[in-house]
Amino acid sequence: DPRLDAISRSIRVIPHFPKPGIMFQDITTLLLDPKAFKDTVDIFVDRYRNMGIDVVAGIEARGFLFGPAIALAIGAKFVPLRKPRKLPGEVISESYILEYGTDCLEMHVGAVSPGDKAIVIDDLVATGGTLSAAIKLLERAGGEVVECACVIGLPKFKVNSKIKGKPLYILVEPT
Ligand code: 5GP
Repeated sequence: DPRLDAISRSIRVIPHFPKPGIMFQDITTLLLDPKAFKDTVDIFVDRYRNMGIDVVAGIEARGFLFGPAIALAIGAKFVPLRKPRKLPGEVISESYILEYGTDCLEMHVGAVSPGDKAIVIDDLVATGGTLSAAIKLLERAGGEVVECACVIGLPKFKVNSKIKGKPLYILVEPT
């Protein structure tokens, strides 16, 4: 896809953020490029529009930048998966292990109905830990996760990679 090159080039790399040694992939520069931003959303929309998707679940915070546009275009619900104590209603929680310590995602009870077909969207997949927690939340609510989708995938995730047995769709690798 000829659009992927420009999408890749629109992503800025910030060395040593948030700590020394990390090459941070900054998608805010993709958002500053209306063509690259639209192409990114369009690629996901074209992929998911005829798959009977009921739910687009976006992971806080950068999954919120892409998920709602995709959900609106394909006529699906948008469900935010948030860090602890952000959602006001009753939630289910799923903890996951990071390099140092643990983190947690929460989802509102009732946001996903049994049998809902869902995709999970985030900006970047590194270890897959965050997406795994998202898959567990959706499945606990009775949802069926069709695929996980990210703009950027670290090279350990190649085409046809899976996370908890679910397909992973990525647009570009870090530069
Ligand atoms: P994982 O759980 O796959 O190890 O990490 C993925 C999560 O960390 C995503 O929610 C993603 O937003 C965040 N993340 C980790 N590294 C980066 C990075 O370099 N750039 C951006 N934009 N997000 C990152």
